[in-house]
Formats: sequence, C-alpha cells, structure tokens
Amino acid sequence: MAEKETKKKRVSRESLRKAARIFRYVKPYAWQFTIGIVLISLSGVFTLLVTRLWGQLGGVGVQPGESRDEVRSFFDLEINFSDLGNIALIIFGVLVIQAAISFSRVMLFAHITENMMLTLRRDSYERIIRMPLQYFNEQRVGDLNSRISADITSIQDVFTTTLAELLRQLIIIVGGILALLYFSPTLTFIMLATLPVMIIIAVIFGRFIRKLSKQTQDKVAESNVIVQETFTGIVNVKSFANETLEVARYLSSIADIRQFALRGAKWRGAFASFIILFIFGAISLVIFKGAELMNEGELASEHFFTFLLMTGLVAGSIGGLASQFGALQRGIGAIENVMDILDLEPEPVSLKVKKGHRTPLKGTLHFEKVSFAYASRSETTVINDLSFSVNAGQQVALVGPSGAGKSTVVSLVQRFYLPTSGRILFDGVPASEFDLSELRDQMAYVPQEVILFGGTIRENIAYGKPDASDSEIREAARQANALEFIDGFPDGLATVVGERGIQLSGGQRQRIAIARAVLKNPTLLILDEATSSLDSESERLVQDALEKLMKDRTSIVIAHRLSTIRNADKILVLENGRVVEEGSHDELMAQNAGAYRGLVELQGEKQL
Ligand code: ATP
Repeated sequence: MAEKETKKKRVSRESLRKAARIFRYVKPYAWQFTIGIVLISLSGVFTLLVTRLWGQLGGVGVQPGESRDEVRSFFDLEINFSDLGNIALIIFGVLVIQAAISFSRVMLFAHITENMMLTLRRDSYERIIRMPLQYFNEQRVGDLNSRISADITSIQDVFTTTLAELLRQLIIIVGGILALLYFSPTLTFIMLATLPVMIIIAVIFGRFIRKLSKQTQDKVAESNVIVQETFTGIVNVKSFANETLEVARYLSSIADIRQFALRGAKWRGAFASFIILFIFGAISLVIFKGAELMNEGELASEHFFTFLLMTGLVAGSIGGLASQFGALQRGIGAIENVMDILDLEPEPVSLKVKKGHRTPLKGTLHFEKVSFAYASRSETTVINDLSFSVNAGQQVALVGPSGAGKSTVVSLVQRFYLPTSGRILFDGVPASEFDLSELRDQMAYVPQEVILFGGTIRENIAYGKPDASDSEIREAARQANALEFIDGFPDGLATVVGERGIQLSGGQRQRIAIARAVLKNPTLLILDEATSSLDSESERLVQDALEKLMKDRTSIVIAHRLSTIRNADKILVLENGRVVEEGSHDELMAQNAGAYRGLVELQGEKQL
C-alpha cells in the first residue's frame, strides 16, 4: 500500500504553537542544530561565491571596461584573473570546502533527526499501546498505523531537508539579489519584474497539472478496484451471469481514464508552451538588455556573465521555495498530529519489567450491581445491574444468545473497560485498588479467534512468559496437547508461523494459545470458546487441554456449545446484560420452562 501523505492544513497561530513543542525534542541537540544552521548559511554563501568565480571566467581575455576599476569593492576579488590556472585552483579550493561543509551538514542533520525520530516514534507508540481498548474501537488500526508512519516521515523531511533548504534558498535569494543589484541595477529591475512573476505562475500552473494527473491516477485506481472486485468475487459474477454488466462497468471507468488523461495532456502542452514563450522569453529579454548595456560600455562582460549565472541560481531558488513551503506546511500538520497522540491520556498500565506480584490473587471474583455502556454508544446499557460471584478455583460459564453481553463481561473482568456503576472485586478487594498491569498479569485469556504473532512457535508460546526456558515451553506445549504436532514439524518449536498464524490449522492455533496460557500460569482464566467447529479429533484435543488448564483455577468460560459446560460449578444465563438464570447444569435442567433448558434443547435439535 502506498504510504499516505500528511494532509496539508492551514497553518494557524494555534497550530504553530502546538508544532513549536517539537523543539522539546530538538533541545538535547541544540548545539548540533546551531552548528548545522551555521554550516547551511556558509553553504549558501559559498554557492554565491562559486557563481561569482564562474562569472569571473567570463571576463578572461576581455579588457575590463572602465567602470570596473571605479567600482572595486569586496565583490571584485583581488586576484590576477588573467591567469586561468589561478582561477581554476581557487574554484577547486572553494568547491572542496563546500563539499566538506555539505557532507558535515547532511551528517549532522541526519544525526539530529534520526535521534529525534527514535524518541518520537518510541513515545507515540508507547502512548498508543497504553491506551484503553475504547480508543482502538474508535480508530481504524490501519489508519492509525499509516497515519503515524506518514506523519513521522513528514517530520523527518522537515528536519533533514526542508529547514536546511529553505534557509539556504533564502540566503541565495537575498544575497543573490543584492549581488545582482551591485552588478547592474537596471538589469536587476528588468529581471525582477519579469522572471519571478513567471516562475510563480509556472509553479501554480505546475500544481494545477499535478492535480489533473492525480485525478487521472484516481480514475486508474477506481478501474483497478473494479478488476480486483470482480476477479475476487468471480463466483458471484458467474453465478449471476453478469459478465456483460461488469465489462460495461469497466469500460465506463477506463473511458474516464482516457478523458482525464487527454485533458491533462492538453494542459501539459500548454505548460510547455508557456515555459518556452514566457520563461525563456523573459530570459531572452534580460540577455538582450544585458548585451545592450555591454555595448554601451555600462556593463563589464564578466559582470554580465556572473549576472546570468546568478540569475539562474536565484530563479531556481525561487522556484524551489514553493515546494519547501509545502513540505514545511505538511510537516507542521504532521507535528500537530503527533502532538495530539502524545497528549492522549493512557490507562494506568505500567511499563516496568515484571518481577513477581506484590499482591498475588487467590481467585475469588465478585460482580456487585455492575452496569455498563460502551462510551461510543452510551445510551445503550449493555450490562444491567449484574451481580454474581465465583469462588477461587471454580468454573463459571456464561451462556446466552448473541449480543447478550458475554464478551463484555469478560472485558470488564480484564478491566478493558470500567463499569459505569457498581463494583468488581477480586479477593474481596475493589479492582480499582489493584495495579492494572499486575491484575492483568495474573489472568490469561484464550480467545475465540486466535491470532498468533509472526515469529516462531516458541516465541508465540513464550508470549505468556517471555523469560521461559525451552523445557518450560515444551512442558506447556505438552499440557496443551500441542507438543505432538509441534514435534511433527521439521523445525519443531522454531517453526515460523505465517502471517497471523495462517500456516497452522484452527485447532493447532488454539492449542498454541492454550500453551501460552499454561505457561503464564494465571490465577484467573478466561476462555472464549471457539464457535467455528473443529473436526472431532482436534476438538477432543482442544477440550482436553482446556480442561487440564482450568483445573484448580478460577475460570470464566464463554460457552457456545453447551455440551462442554456440563461440569461447570455455575452457569449464568445472560439475556440483554442481565442474569436470567443461575445454577449448575442439573439445577437449570430441572426447571421445566427454563431459558437454559430451552437453549440446550435448541442446540440438541441443531446437532441432530
Ligand atoms: P456474541 O455471542 O455474539 O459474541 P456477546 O454475548 O458476547 O455476543 P457482547 O459482544 O458482549 O455480546 O455484546 C453485547 C452488546 O454490546 C451488543 O449489543 C453489542 O452490539 C454491543 N457491543 C459490543 N462491543 C461493543 C463496542 N466495542 N462498542 C459498542 N458496543 C459494543
């Protein structure tokens, strides 16, 4: 996917103030930064100097006009300019110095910027990863990801090149124009009245053309979407016999491409004519005027030569200003975005290295009149006045129709969200009194859809305990009924799991997640039973591993297949966020018109 560019925003005083906070990140490098600025300024001055020297070559062999002797000043270098070797040597010397300056400048700014980026990337990642889940619900993760990387790139551009170039160009423009005025005020006024105006028009014109070609690109992208959609959904196209329809849709889209491209070409042609007529025209005018002045003895040829070269330099810099300002504007927007991220209020998770638990849990859990609504839909109460308790080591199962609030209950247990009212207590102590990271560290969650990280099986299991030894990992895998299939792979534990674990079957992924939980050895276990059915052998292995894992731990199971929770100590039947029934399997089955019994019978029928 192409990386997004940071959008250009209007730069207001407010945004500048916010962007100025980036200087906190520059501060540790204040010295290097200042030296860098001095080097850039020198580099600008040396560029002007070289141009002056080149211009001097234009005067070799020509008798200097009278005016030349009269207006000797520091612009006229006191060197014997009739000696070509001498000039070559000086030019070479200046170029060497300038090369050295540029090298140091680039290295210096790269050093500053890369260190800044390191801190900025770390800080924003750290801030985001510590945000409560609600934040991730409200953001599209892909957007967040590409936005940050685009923003950081824009900021990087500003500090590696934009600031430097802007300063250098300003020095060249101001210094250059002053020099031009010195060589020939008349010619300078003619030049200034024509060339910059034309350049600015050219830049605006150029932007317009870019916009047109962007439109064409968008059309191309649209047509690609059609191709992609139809080919991925080819079965739909075929079964609806819609080939003709799709061809027509594609044709109308590619006809648009042609139309936009031709319109773009017309303007590109006009642009080329504009450059030739007006920019080259303006240059011709200046040259013509210069020749006239030389003819009249008003201008020395070396000055004219310098004038032309310097005009080119100044014009180039004026043309370059626009894109540098654009980059600066983007950079300011990007800094604002990153500052917004750094202003986020994270949840109180600690970033300290884990070292045992100060307050080990025994495993009793109480919900006391807990109500909850998601912040994004605050008018809908998802959990209503929910109270229940689980003793240490017990197994409680949550059942109920889809949307009843089962997943929300386990999210509340993990404190991904805080109850709107009521309390959750662990070992009789309100959850709010525990350190959040410590609390979560004593729980393990085996989700429905297991997503593994891209590394090896070993790394994926060790996610439950990063400092686990190989033998601990193997033991955990054995208990999770996973060792056999892992050892079946040629690379064993070192087998690389494909992106998001797709090279493993659903049952294998689940057993790895179970091994991860075994290794973590949590006091409180949360299981979200898989809804997608596994084949019966794999199902038996997973179920068996889960039962071993639940033994002697408090566990909360979101059950979809009721056959697996017959032995649960307590079953809570949820409907619309309320407990409608509570009891063991036998107790609940004894109720004739009970909700649980209804669900069991319904599933029984489905399985028939
Ligand atoms: P299922 O068995 O289908 O997973 P569930 O019993 O686990 O359902 P929950 O996922 O807890 O149900 O959802 C309970 C209610 O909360 C639903 O109405 C759902 O639409 C809503 N809900 C779930 N997650 C969010 C969220 N992040 N933001 C807003 N509403 C949500």
